[in-house]
Amino acid sequence: MQTTMKGAYFPGNSTVILKDVPIPQPAYGQVLVKMKACTICGTDIRAAYREHTGKGAEAYQNKIAGHEPCGVVVEEGPGIRRFHKDSRVIVYHISGCGVCHHCRMGAMISCSSTALRAAYGWQRDGGMADYILCDEKDLVELPPNLSYTDGAQVACGFGTVYEAFEKIGVSTNDAVLVTGLGPVGLGALMLAKAMGARKLIGVEINDERIALAKKLGLLHEAFKPGPDTVAQIKAVTGGYGVERALDASANDEARQIAIRATRQSGKITFVGEGNTVHFNPSPDIIHDEKTIVGSWVTSIWRMEDLVDRLVNWNLHPEVLVTHRFPLAKVDEAYALMASGKCGKVAVCWEEELK
Ligand SMILES: [Zn+2]
Ligand SMILES: [Zn+2]
Repeated sequence: MQTTMKGAYFPGNSTVILKDVPIPQPAYGQVLVKMKACTICGTDIRAAYREHTGKGAEAYQNKIAGHEPCGVVVEEGPGIRRFHKDSRVIVYHISGCGVCHHCRMGAMISCSSTALRAAYGWQRDGGMADYILCDEKDLVELPPNLSYTDGAQVACGFGTVYEAFEKIGVSTNDAVLVTGLGPVGLGALMLAKAMGARKLIGVEINDERIALAKKLGLLHEAFKPGPDTVAQIKAVTGGYGVERALDASANDEARQIAIRATRQSGKITFVGEGNTVHFNPSPDIIHDEKTIVGSWVTSIWRMEDLVDRLVNWNLHPEVLVTHRFPLAKVDEAYALMASGKCGKVAVCWEEELK
């Protein structure tokens, strides 16, 4: 019987190395999941792949990489209550203590136990390996109509934008602006469209990303960031600006556009991490009574709701995946993602490697 597997690690110099490691054994409350798809998140690149710059929740502790895992349960540890062998599962990518207030709210992302909070791919082994050891409490069921590559994107990116939009609300009355059309921004446009947004507007510097968004039917208007962008957005929204905006760019100028192109009483949410933003509180938010909402990943109950809605909406996040690699070529996969010349990049196994 096979006892070792390949697992991918970040040395911190813009490479990925594969090591032979033992296949883990599930303990009480744990299952062993055979990996099927693990997508690459921008956070991996920013905080661990190029250099180990992450602190706290983003501190990479030389574990197997990959925090967007999706696969099938192949072995049950003792004490399993809901999932079983052959269950198709998405991994909510942070394991919490289970008993702090945030964990009880289902938001393990904010678990207050520094000793017990561990993110898959950061402080405990992640999904860039043939198998991943998971706590049953961290699993979300993947319905038969969704592929494993659909599910992988729910584990982080889609969960994050869904949470942000649920916080600010999106309705058929809303023109929605998304700044930054990388995979997270594209996911935001997909969800805003499904939620009924009447107009979808994107701001992005990269032509390939605008072209991909247009090809997927996710944009009514696209603009490049510049001194006239706010006026251009107002011109296509009756002179008012948008009702809702989401920043996925983490760029100062783009965040300013998101704030200023939002109309009176509108709402803006920030999910793009890092960097800064400069704005003038009186004209930019106070006098027009705008709300800026920060949002970080999602809660596990909301992730379950999102999966349900993706089925009802017949929405497949995997349409954003432009490149699929086998684990043996994981180094190429990360190099491509770091170059930005792609949509979403996935490492896949078996039937997902099409
Ligand atoms: Zn992520
Ligand atoms: Zn906790």
